[in-house]
Amino acid sequence: MNIDSPAGSPQSPLPKPARRLLLRSALTGAAAVGTALAVGASPASASPRTRPRPTTPEEALRTLAAGNARWRTFREKHPDETRAVREELVSGQHPFAVVLSCVDSRVPPELVFDQGLGDLITVRSAGEVLDEAVLGSVAYGVLELDIPLILVLGHQSCGAVRAAVESDESGERLPAHIQYLADQIAPAIDHSKQGEERIDATIDANIRRVRSRLASEPDLAARVSAGRLAVVGARYELTTQLVHRVD
Ligand SMILES: [Zn+2]
Repeated sequence: MNIDSPAGSPQSPLPKPARRLLLRSALTGAAAVGTALAVGASPASASPRTRPRPTTPEEALRTLAAGNARWRTFREKHPDETRAVREELVSGQHPFAVVLSCVDSRVPPELVFDQGLGDLITVRSAGEVLDEAVLGSVAYGVLELDIPLILVLGHQSCGAVRAAVESDESGERLPAHIQYLADQIAPAIDHSKQGEERIDATIDANIRRVRSRLASEPDLAARVSAGRLAVVGARYELTTQLVHRVD
């Protein structure tokens, strides 16, 4: 993932895959005692627990960037899938990012960011279209789970955006509820371009529009102002598997 910090600072080198620090804690899953262990050290007595959770927008972005770097270089770690993690998560969850992405089968957030159980709240709708259920789901992650990052993730060759553009051009209505999706994407259509360029530009414009709408939600905007939340637009390229920021 090629992303700047939320503050828009110059792009820093991608972090190396973060060494995963684990907290050794009681088998009950009660309070951790704070002994940090690196994965791979594999002392028999160490319980592989979930990783320290990013608590700031910057940390959350860096963690996603590191995961995407692993994904696109075929060095995935498939974190947070162990028996111990599953047991720990029975008592609660502390995900560090909300990813609002398209339903496209080629862009599953946990895979393209190499994350595991308990790491991400994923909200998916075709074309990242917002409705009350999507807004409520995103708000749940931020307000109830205190998540510091919302990532709006569009992607190359989005079929929902293509359908919206083609429906707009032909004037033909789409079947049933698919028209609802097209209607929501339509304001983002970039009429300054033609053909495939129009579809591609509309993908970016739709990401920006969804990001802006989320960022203007009063409860979310208050957190952004306080520095507790970032709402970031990004796009996944099928050809390179890179996630890059869309400002
Ligand atoms: Zn899509």
